[in-house]
Amino acid sequence: DKGLQKSNENLFSKLGKAVVGKSKVDEEILDELEEILITSDVGVDTTIKVIKRIEERVARDKYVGTAELDEILREEIAKLLEENNTDDLADFDLPADKKPYVIMVVGVNGVGKTTTIGKLAHQFKQAGKSVVLGAADTFRAAAVDQLILWGDRVGVPVISHGMNTDPASVAFDAVKKAVDMQADVVIIDTAGRLHTKVNLMNELGKIKRVMQKFIDDSPHEILLVLDGSTGQNAFIQAKEFTKATEITALAITKLDGTAKGGVVIGISDQFKIPVKYIGVGEKMTDLQVFHRKEFVDSLFK
Ligand code: GDP
Repeated sequence: DKGLQKSNENLFSKLGKAVVGKSKVDEEILDELEEILITSDVGVDTTIKVIKRIEERVARDKYVGTAELDEILREEIAKLLEENNTDDLADFDLPADKKPYVIMVVGVNGVGKTTTIGKLAHQFKQAGKSVVLGAADTFRAAAVDQLILWGDRVGVPVISHGMNTDPASVAFDAVKKAVDMQADVVIIDTAGRLHTKVNLMNELGKIKRVMQKFIDDSPHEILLVLDGSTGQNAFIQAKEFTKATEITALAITKLDGTAKGGVVIGISDQFKIPVKYIGVGEKMTDLQVFHRKEFVDSLFK
């Protein structure tokens, strides 16, 4: 996959350079690997974990050749991703007993939240599902208009009350509409104002409560959108949002234009949340269901 390869070519070309002229994995190479992982935004904690596991293997096997380092690293990353990510459901499939399936989308401005919702709507529609969108990010000036635009483009209804209206009321009407028209999935955009955590908690809490008036166990998914090209900022946002609300899945965007795909590895490891979707471009088709095996392979291509 073109988008993903581009996202990671640096990580492993750097590894290639680090081992040039060396046959044995030693302290120096492990130091370099540590630096490569950190500069690739895998995150300090996850990097240390990976390095420690490789050190243990080196200590155990006495000799590890640099030719094997790729394979060992691939195994360790695969193991990490396996702990939090399953490849169970078919792409854009939904649990049959949850109809409408309610997705609440959170994330700060600029990460690609609206775009991701538009792409999701498109993909679900392509998969034969009926979709309703709820424009409950009523705080940011362009958010409502943008979502309406996406709704038109994709051909799905958007429930909106305009700017500065009560987000919970929008969510209420969106879920109601989805129930009335027996839609398969309803996706609710929400505002992501992190600077006021208590407000954010209250707002998201209120949105959840009105949804639950229709569907007890909703929202079925709370999807946090993170910009994969922002490195440490993505980690900070994950930390803040997980403090404010439960997060059940991640969408990591902008993995096309960056050499920093390591965010995917670090964030899913540190927050124990599955990465469900990845964004690899601006077009409505540029959203993929995350498959850990494919992803690890793409790192080593
Ligand atoms: P929001 O403020 O979080 O709703 O962000 P938007 O959805 O408006 O997206 C912000 C910008 O990021 C827009 O220019 C999008 O086209 C762009 N964008 C979103 N997702 C991706 C992606 O996966 N790849 C790239 N290259 N751009 C993206």
